Amino acid sequence: MILGGSAPPGHVAILHSSMERGESLARVLRTAGHQVTVVRPGAGALPTLLTASPDVAMGTLYFGDHLLKDTIAAARHALKAELPLLIVIGREDADAVVSSDEVIREPVDAGELTLRVGSLIARQVERRGLQKKIDQLAGLNRTSWAFSLAGGSETLFGQIAKLSADALRAEKGLVLLYDSQRREMQAQGPGFGLSREQAERVRYPVDGEPRDRWNFRINGPLLSNHAFSDPHLVPEMVALLGLRSALVVPLTLGPQILGLLLVGDRVGAVPFRDEDLGVLQAVAGQAAVSVENQRLHEQIKEANAQLQEYDRVKSEFVAIIAHDFRSPLMAIRGFAELVLEDADLPIESRQEFMQTIMDQTDDLARLANDTLLISRMETGKIQYEWQDMELAPLILEAVPLGLSRHSVVTDVPAALPAIVADADRMKQVLTNLLNNAVKYSPEGGAITVRVRERGDQHVVIEVADQGLGIPPDQVGRLFQKFERVRSDEHLRISGTGLGLYICRKIVEGHGGQIWVESETGRGSTFSILLPVNARQATQDAQEAPDAHKSNGADKKNGAARSAPA
Ligand code: ADP
Repeated sequence: MILGGSAPPGHVAILHSSMERGESLARVLRTAGHQVTVVRPGAGALPTLLTASPDVAMGTLYFGDHLLKDTIAAARHALKAELPLLIVIGREDADAVVSSDEVIREPVDAGELTLRVGSLIARQVERRGLQKKIDQLAGLNRTSWAFSLAGGSETLFGQIAKLSADALRAEKGLVLLYDSQRREMQAQGPGFGLSREQAERVRYPVDGEPRDRWNFRINGPLLSNHAFSDPHLVPEMVALLGLRSALVVPLTLGPQILGLLLVGDRVGAVPFRDEDLGVLQAVAGQAAVSVENQRLHEQIKEANAQLQEYDRVKSEFVAIIAHDFRSPLMAIRGFAELVLEDADLPIESRQEFMQTIMDQTDDLARLANDTLLISRMETGKIQYEWQDMELAPLILEAVPLGLSRHSVVTDVPAALPAIVADADRMKQVLTNLLNNAVKYSPEGGAITVRVRERGDQHVVIEVADQGLGIPPDQVGRLFQKFERVRSDEHLRISGTGLGLYICRKIVEGHGGQIWVESETGRGSTFSILLPVNARQATQDAQEAPDAHKSNGADKKNGAARSAPA
């Protein structure tokens, strides 16, 4: 089929053995509205042809020292695309066997030339349209298949980059995602055809862009065949990726821009065309859905892990609490029954039983409070209320009243710095340590509270007793939940094993550390290392998570000692 005047204008490359004849053919085609590139024979012929990337090539049987069809075959190979060829047969080649899409004989008639070139361009446009559809379908098919198989986000971004580059016959591909904190697009993984170092440094700022910088929200996709001098692109990104040409389309999900999909440098230095944007947009549509799915998947995984952890903590709690609540309840019930059923019970016994009921009730209330506090701590619901405070009055408030067998010695220097801490929580820690000191030294003895300043903006608080002490093999465990010393002497004393765990959590929440040194039968010393300004210390630790771990107290030898917890 030969199409005439209705054929669209196109781009024709003329490779004629005579430059003069080539130019005269070019004039005819330009008059018919076509763009023409006249290619000179020699080493530069193929690169010129590839850069022009014409719709049709035409020329004489021989071009320079080669058959023209060989040059065209090389161009087709480099372009990985069809390039229709029209051969002009000279009088001397009248009998030659010609392999081309169309032939035209010398002397060339202007009308016939326009007609034949027009027909080839029309076919080429049709073929490109079809090829585009095939590419789109194949690309979509591949992407949906591959994206759904993706293992993790890094694999997914790598696959999107590779598939996009493949679909566009480009050498490079990269996914950038929008980081709302930094307000910039950030490269994800090494992409395709790029090194990790190259890709990792790629940033595409969203704010403060020069007016002529491309705004994907407003301007949509971007095509640039001269990336280096294109004011629309971020020059640092172009330089980092060494881009000659680029197609960039936004990854959108409804009105939301998730990121950008970039491909660069067409194989064989062929320029990108407008229709390529359509292909990349089709891939980007699929990719955006996969990226969002991946993000949701990660979120669900995280939430699931957290739920499982909550569930585990809850079950553990329920099991232990059920046990720990039952014993005092049974005691309360038993004593209440005795008082109720025996009307003749002597008044002293009655009072003794009622006191036991009161003590057990207090224990239960404490257990309930501790349990509640721990569950709030473990689910991150505790907020510390930082305030300026003095340590000395706090220590005095925490000392238990009405001790008969114990003496309490406080050794607190007058010139102690004011500290920043949560006063209620710190009082809870000191009260707990002091109550333990009393509880676990049933024979009585001295209890000493000592405070010392440490040069590096810290204070150390010690609570020492002369009681039961802790066997060396058990000191390490005691700051864990529900851990108690497993000895008859200790277990005879009522306790839940929650106090020291709460102390550790609070002290750590202040950016500090707690540990114990002890000798069985001779007593224990619990120590707290506390930053003078807990608000500052916890903020610093959040900004540099590793730095916080190094402020430990120095270790001593000798008696059993837990590592600073
Ligand atoms: P509780 O005292 O309610 O059992 P804690 O968590 O406060 O819970 O203490 C855990 C365990 O550590 C106690 O059960 C006890 O065995 C041991 N312990 C705590 N303080 C002392 C101390 N001053 N001397 C000896 N043992 C102690």
